[in-house]
Amino acid sequence: HHAKNNKMDTMVYQSLLDEHSLERLSLFNELNEAITTGTLELYYQPQVVTHGEGIPSLEALIRWPHPVKGMVFPDRFIPMAEDSGLIIPMTWWVLESAMEQCAAWHRAGLPVTVAVNFSAHCLQEDDIVQRIADCIKRHNLPDHSLVLEITESMIMADPHQASTVLLEIDKLKVDVSIDDFGTGHSSLAYLKHLLVDELKIDRSFVMGMHEHKNDEVIVRTVISMAHNMGLRVVAEGVETRRDWDALTAMNCDRIQGYFISRPLPVEQITRWLEAFVRDGLQPDE
Ligand code: C2E
Ligand code: MG
Ligand code: MG
Ligand code: MG
Repeated sequence: HHAKNNKMDTMVYQSLLDEHSLERLSLFNELNEAITTGTLELYYQPQVVTHGEGIPSLEALIRWPHPVKGMVFPDRFIPMAEDSGLIIPMTWWVLESAMEQCAAWHRAGLPVTVAVNFSAHCLQEDDIVQRIADCIKRHNLPDHSLVLEITESMIMADPHQASTVLLEIDKLKVDVSIDDFGTGHSSLAYLKHLLVDELKIDRSFVMGMHEHKNDEVIVRTVISMAHNMGLRVVAEGVETRRDWDALTAMNCDRIQGYFISRPLPVEQITRWLEAFVRDGLQPDE
């Protein structure tokens, strides 16, 4: 029977039915349902300012509480969401829910800035600028309450398109941060054409900083270059006091990582913020 199929049929048949595709199909259906029923959850991780008193910013990080698999982390479903287009409704859900929470913190006397991971696929949507503007307005948030984190590789996939949209986003008083900076082969010369406010140094450099001289040089150079270009710098993946000391000595503006706090659900991060306001920073040593 199998021998009768021509090669093409067999390929289609196999690609539809191999275990991997079935798994992807059911992941797609389940994620689609989780988005529409609002069962996804946002955790928040603080970014603290190294010099000065400012209240921390918070990065929203998506989690998927799954009835069978338990808590599913983004690395397991973001790539599929990017490929299938689900990333677009997912991102709008993230933005809406992060801004709603941000407004609740402001009302509670915790005027935090919230950073949202924003897929460059969304930059291609026609109504993106209007949708972001509506969202901020609906929640009555002050200027610069929202930071969009866009990965370097995503921007570099279509830098011309990105630079046009970034110009519009800048007018909304929304900040843009280049996430995972250093991993995406962007030419530094290109950066100056992009209206961004912040660079986030990829955690691979931060984590290699003490062992590899090159990583340390990259971190130091990115910080000084960013400052010369008027950008602030966030270091991610800061896990130890030693990392903190090295980065503050290099004048890094903000620090994010397990040393400060792991990503936490809303209730816990709210308590963390209240403790920060009351007692200052108590690192997770
Ligand atoms: P990212 O935006 O670079 O986020 C930082 C990741 O590093 C988070 O992983 C965070 O939990 C982790 N991290 C923070 N501090 C430390 C540390 O000190 N040590 C180590 N080893 N890791 C640390 P997470 O939450 O699993 O997210 C992974 C990636 O998934 C994110 O990387 C981001 O690219 C993507 N992602 C997360 N949430 C969203 C979302 O709402 N939308 C989109 N489009 N992507 C998201
Ligand atoms: Mg991020
Ligand atoms: Mg801006
Ligand atoms: Mg990152």
